[in-house]
Formats: sequence, C-alpha cells, structure tokens
Amino acid sequence: MTDSAVIVGAGVIGLATAYRLARDGLSVTVVDAAHAGAARASVNNAGWIVPIMSAPVPAPGMLGHALRWMARKDSPLYVRPSPRPDHVRFMLSMLRHCNPRDFEYGVEALVSLNERTLASFDEYEKDGVRFEYHRTGQLLVFTTRQTMDGYRATTAPVERIGHTAVPLSGDELRDLEPALGKEVRVGLHCPQERHVDPTSLVEGLENRCRELGVRFLYDTPVTDIRSKGHVVTSVLAGGEEISGDLFVLAAGAHTGPLTRLAGFPLPIQPGKGYGFDDTSGSVTLRHSVYLGEAKVAVTPLSNRLRFAGTMEFGSSDTTLDPHRLRGIAHSAHTYLPGFSPAAQPQGWTGLRPMTPDGLPVIGPLPGKDNLLVASGHSMLGLTLAPVTADIVSALVKAGPHTPTTAHTARPFAPQRFASRRGPAAAHRAS
Ligand SMILES: Cc1cc2nc3c(=O)[nH]c(=O)nc-3n(C[C@H](O)[C@H](O)[C@H](O)COP(=O)(O)OP(=O)(O)OC[C@H]3O[C@@H](n4cnc5c(N)ncnc54)[C@H](O)[C@@H]3O)c2cc1C
Repeated sequence: MTDSAVIVGAGVIGLATAYRLARDGLSVTVVDAAHAGAARASVNNAGWIVPIMSAPVPAPGMLGHALRWMARKDSPLYVRPSPRPDHVRFMLSMLRHCNPRDFEYGVEALVSLNERTLASFDEYEKDGVRFEYHRTGQLLVFTTRQTMDGYRATTAPVERIGHTAVPLSGDELRDLEPALGKEVRVGLHCPQERHVDPTSLVEGLENRCRELGVRFLYDTPVTDIRSKGHVVTSVLAGGEEISGDLFVLAAGAHTGPLTRLAGFPLPIQPGKGYGFDDTSGSVTLRHSVYLGEAKVAVTPLSNRLRFAGTMEFGSSDTTLDPHRLRGIAHSAHTYLPGFSPAAQPQGWTGLRPMTPDGLPVIGPLPGKDNLLVASGHSMLGLTLAPVTADIVSALVKAGPHTPTTAHTARPFAPQRFASRRGPAAAHRAS
C-alpha cells in the first residue's frame, strides 16, 4: 500500500508529479537542494508546449554539425572538450544513437507520449493551477527551403495526434508576423502549439500543490538513499532522514549521481542552454517563433520577449558565456531586423537533463521496488511534465510487481540501460 511519497526535485517534473500524486490521495513531500524560487531549468527555458517538436536530440548528422561548430564561440551546438570519463562515454553513446533507425524509434515514442499533452495543460487550468498560458500557435521560420525540408520529416509523424505544420511562403509568414524580415523565405505554421511563462507555471503548480497539502523542504540536498534489500526506506536530506513508501528522483541534470547512490547509475548529463529577456518592445510577436537555422526560440510573454537557445555539452555549471548570448542576439537580427534591445539584456542559463538516446527516463530504477525516476527530458521537460506525472501515477497504482503499464511508457523505462551483465556493465555500454 502506497500512502506517502518523497519527491526529490522541485522543478517542473517534480512539481507535476507531486501535484498528480497529491490528487491521487498520497501524502507528498518535495525535497530540493536549492532555495525556494531558485532559477532552475524549469524556469530558465523558452516555455513552449510543443508536441510538434517530438524528436530526440541525437539525430543523423547531429554530431557532424557539432564538430563543424567546435571552433565557433557563438554556435548553437557545442561539445566542450573534456577528458571526464562519464562525459566521453556519454558523447560516444549519443554518437551511436545518431542514426535513422534510432531517431525514428525516438520520434514515434515521443509522439505517443505527447498524445494527451494539450488536454493535460487544459486540465491544469480547469483545476485551478494559475499560470500564463498562450494558445496562439507557433511559426518555424527559415532562410532556406533546404533546412525547412529537414524539419518537415520530423513534423509529419506528429500529424497522427492532431498537430499540423502548414508550409507558408515568406510573405504569408509576414502576414501573420509583420516583424519577420525579408531574409525569412519559408516556414511552417503550427496552430496547435502553445506556450507559457515558465516561471508562472512552476509557481502555479507549487501553489496548487500547497493547497493540496504537499510539504516542501528547500535548501535540503539529498546526499544519501537508504534501503533494506529491494526497498528504499528513506533519503538523507540536509541531515534529516525522510521516510516514505515511495521515492521519485526528479532532480533534472543532477539525477545521475542520485541513481548512483541507489546502485544503478543512469547516464544523465547536462545540456546547457542560454537565454535572455528583452523588455524594449522593439519587436512584438503573437506566435512563438523558432528561428530555424539559428536554432533560437523566441517567446512573446505578457511583459517581455524571451530568447533561448544553444546546446552545450560538457558544462555542468551555470556560468554565462557572453559569446553564446551574443550569438543568440546576433541571429535574432537576421530574422527580426527591427529587434533592438534597449539595454544590455539580462542573460540566464539552464541545464537540460540529457540522455544518450534522447528519450526521458521514467519508471522504476532496477533493483529498487519503490524508487522511480522521472528525468532526462532534454528539450521537452516542460511539454512532457504532465504526461510524465501520469505515467508515475499509473506505475504507483499498478504496484511494483506488475510487469509494465501502458505500451506508451515502455520506451522510457530505466531498465533500457541494463544489460545481461548487470547495471555497471550497462552503464559502461550506454
Ligand atoms: C534554454 C532552454 C530552453 C528550453 N525550452 C524548453 C521549451 O520551450 N519547452 C520544453 O518543454 N522544455 C524546454 N526546455 C527543457 C526544460 O526546461 C527541461 O527539460 C526541464 O525544465 C527539466 O525539468 P526538471 O524538473 O527535470 O529539472 P530542473 O528544473 O533542473 O529541476 C531539478 C531540481 O532538482 C533539484 N536537485 C538537484 N539535485 C538535488 C539533490 N541532490 N537533492 C535535492 N534536490 C536536488 C534542483 O535544485 C532543481 O530544483 C528548455 C531548456 C533550456 C535550458
């Protein structure tokens, strides 16, 4: 019988899970290493709810791009050279997944997972989770047809769950968003996609969780996981032992070391992103806009325009590299020629939790009956938060000895990193 749950991590994944389990009637405690209101990846992101982008990061040709961009300090994708064995192993494993077969498998798995995404956010709103929510659609814009054609291969499978990407000419795009410049020649209009102010979503979920009786412990890093055989009994957090019937690791890019403490280290590494907020009002947009070749997300929020981009592997701190910020601002001028930030924009970074196959890790950690992982959501953590929580809830209801839940959850099981030779070998192999 599961009556109580301890969730490690108060990012959007931990909060969505806490909310869902509290609604299921469990007594829930959320433990976080940072202080209340700290800027984590769940706050520092573009705020897009984008099933249309159901694609794993490791894609055919991806690391080729990274190698070509290695020398550029403002490139959108960068692999920082590092001799750390876990980083090298991770990058080699990701390289192995950069093939058409694994990519198509990943797209299919993510599309299925995203089937209920929009309905779940609507349900949040109906249940009193208060957040800034925009249903104005998205534009993916390009300076060349060739890049757009590359994207269309990944948007096509998403049509089966009702998300469309309609090709438009540059002039048709400018009819929808007059701020787009002449360099924009083609694009895709995705009317079903949505966006939120990510800070408001995190705050809204936390407030609703508190109304449901969830307890929050901030400034409380988890430093140990204690077990009796296959059963986790408590976590050591900030010197206090916190017990429960169920434990969920949702510590974002820092989940890997926690799974190591539990005896089954998962290959989750940070993918650092950058962004800044502009309040100049020099450009106004209605849709969220993806600047295709530059790989920059632009999000119109009620009081600011948010720019986000860059994928940097091999960096686990949150320091700001000004070259990367300049790279984002520079590309903005190409697509939005009227953009003119009033003052030095306030930059920020966020660590995405990355996996070598580009798929989230959701499910029981092998060897522990009551320890679940909900992490590794890469570029889609905000989008996938409610459906991740649904899987956790279904697993808790099914109990530890039921072989599996819905087939949609299977591709995400942590078990995929195991092998016949045991978890340590599986980790080396991953
Ligand atoms: C630039 C950028 C743009 C993005 N844009 C989008 C987007 O538009 N749409 C989208 O869907 N996704 C987007 N993402 C991805 C999304 O932000 C992440 O996938 C998501 O926020 C991950 O959430 P999380 O809860 O797993 O991790 P986090 O938000 O990092 O939260 C993890 C929490 O765990 C805590 N923690 C860590 N270690 C411990 C410990 N030992 N003990 C206790 N607590 C611990 C941390 O303090 C933190 O609060 C973007 C990311 C970036 C960086």
